[in-house]
Amino acid sequence: MPAQKILIVEDEQAIREMTAFHLARAGYEIFEAETCRDARVLLVNERPDLAIIDWMLPDMSGLELTRKLRRDKDHEDLSIIMLTARAEERDKVSGLEGGADDYITKPFSPRELLARIQAVLRRAGGPADEVMSAGVLELDAAGHRVLSSGREIKLGPTEYRLLHFLMTHPERVYNRTQLLDRVWGANVYVEERTVDVHVRRLRKALSDVAADDYIQTVRGAGYRFSARDV
Ligand code: CA
Repeated sequence: MPAQKILIVEDEQAIREMTAFHLARAGYEIFEAETCRDARVLLVNERPDLAIIDWMLPDMSGLELTRKLRRDKDHEDLSIIMLTARAEERDKVSGLEGGADDYITKPFSPRELLARIQAVLRRAGGPADEVMSAGVLELDAAGHRVLSSGREIKLGPTEYRLLHFLMTHPERVYNRTQLLDRVWGANVYVEERTVDVHVRRLRKALSDVAADDYIQTVRGAGYRFSARDV
């Protein structure tokens, strides 16, 4: 399979080169642009699978570029991750409404960016029947089941939904309120400690295959799914 192509659009040389270095090492084919103008040439000539677009660019804002690309049929398969120094929630919302698939705030770790990229590309290439894997776990969305080394791990429906959500959003911390909104639904009235109860049950089920530590508690912040070695 040919390497997937990633275009990095960022005028700050240090960040662009650092990002390019890590992503190339992870096996992607990398193209770099400092301006939206250069980016558009590479988008047409190289047909990247994903573009990482910085918010602040010299000739046009990254948000504007994202909006333009989203209106362009030629780039409808392109995945976009926005990069920004702004950490405010409203910027995140406008980035996502502008058509980005995800959003990452500077400074970020290469590992975090890589996890986001993998998740976005997986979703992009991901029909509902695909099998997701992380560490020893395999989640078969079509079959609605979780396996490890071919053996099924029995989960309750809420634990399954919780694991599915966390596996599709790895390496990110979600607090209880966010998990309630995303897994239980925004209008459901459930106490926050309900989340802890289901996390506990999920960990117990995953402990049979020594995967319970994939569900990590981040003190004072929430929970994170990570199958990487700690
Ligand atoms: Ca910039």
